[in-house]
Amino acid sequence: DASSPSDLHAGDPVRRDPAAAPATGRASRLWRPRRVLVTPGALEHPHGRAILARLEAQGLPVERLAANRLTGLRHADPRRAYAEAKATLAIVVAPPTKLKLQPIPPSADWRFDLAEGCPAHCQYCYLAGSLSGPPVTRAYANLEAILANLGSYAGQGGVTSAQAARAHEGTTFEASCYTDPLGIEHLTGSLSAAIRHFGAWEAPVQLRFTTKFAAVAPLLDLPHRGRTRIRFSVNAAPAARFEGGTAPLRARLDAMGAVARAGYPVGLTIAPILPVPDWRAAYAALIADAARVLAGVPNLDLTAELITHRFTPGSKQVLEGWYPGSDLPMREAERSRKLTKFGSVKYVFPKDLMAEMREALTGLLARDLPAARVLYWT
Ligand code: SF4
Repeated sequence: DASSPSDLHAGDPVRRDPAAAPATGRASRLWRPRRVLVTPGALEHPHGRAILARLEAQGLPVERLAANRLTGLRHADPRRAYAEAKATLAIVVAPPTKLKLQPIPPSADWRFDLAEGCPAHCQYCYLAGSLSGPPVTRAYANLEAILANLGSYAGQGGVTSAQAARAHEGTTFEASCYTDPLGIEHLTGSLSAAIRHFGAWEAPVQLRFTTKFAAVAPLLDLPHRGRTRIRFSVNAAPAARFEGGTAPLRARLDAMGAVARAGYPVGLTIAPILPVPDWRAAYAALIADAARVLAGVPNLDLTAELITHRFTPGSKQVLEGWYPGSDLPMREAERSRKLTKFGSVKYVFPKDLMAEMREALTGLLARDLPAARVLYWT
């Protein structure tokens, strides 16, 4: 991927997922971590052992750790630490704090985590500054406990089920706040298990996740019962170049068409919206392409979430360490300074530009994808 610093992906052998090969002939890459760590605690859980068997069957070299703590991952050079961490998958037990769910407006009532970290290299990464330590991808072995724990939150409407437009979706649970669950699904199987879990649930609930990957073949025949909304994070082509290590945009759109035809509710997460040169035409092309892949889908259930680019002083500092050569625009002088509800600072686009982009994108959606329910603009 041209947007990745060259040394970050060098040497990463990639497998192709023939089932996910889009019509254009460009296949999606499946992540193959260079290093896999498994803690002893993880192997006490059936899902941890199942992941281990999966990894070994894929010929990945697995290091079995003697203790449950991940150590030796820090490095004086932040780029080196970043590169090594991004090539590492660890199978661990989720800490008990993960079983106390947090509300996550406006996306969903509650967030829960199947994993933390992600193998992609987005130069604007949302996780920068919010993960502690090097960004190793940690997949959780205690999946049974994580899924069983959700039961006590069903029916406890948080933020979104209070919104009339989404009340029919029941209690919503977001699984992609801290990871891209599809990007590691071939290694963990956790997402398929979660989709089955929600499909079998009697109460009105919805699993939601957003992805920049496209290997949806294993999900197509799952008994999802329409209880999982799969959203694809997409962007105008000139902005997608900032998303190293993800599936090509075209493959993501084709994957959206495939899951919509398999009966899943779907969504477009257009993010992070950037005023790239000729942004109106660039976003018009994106929305027209999305309309093309969804044309003729029976009973299409489609939402759209529109998220503009923003950064904080902390995330900017982390991202500059990870991607020193990036030309992602993060100049404070071109932004409006805002205080978050937690009192911290974030930089967003100025009000007039925001209004202009909002009007343009919602207009394009209304014109080309009238089925789309716009959930929010932020
Ligand atoms: Fe970060 Fe999301 Fe990109 Fe992964 S897919 S690198 S979590 S922004």
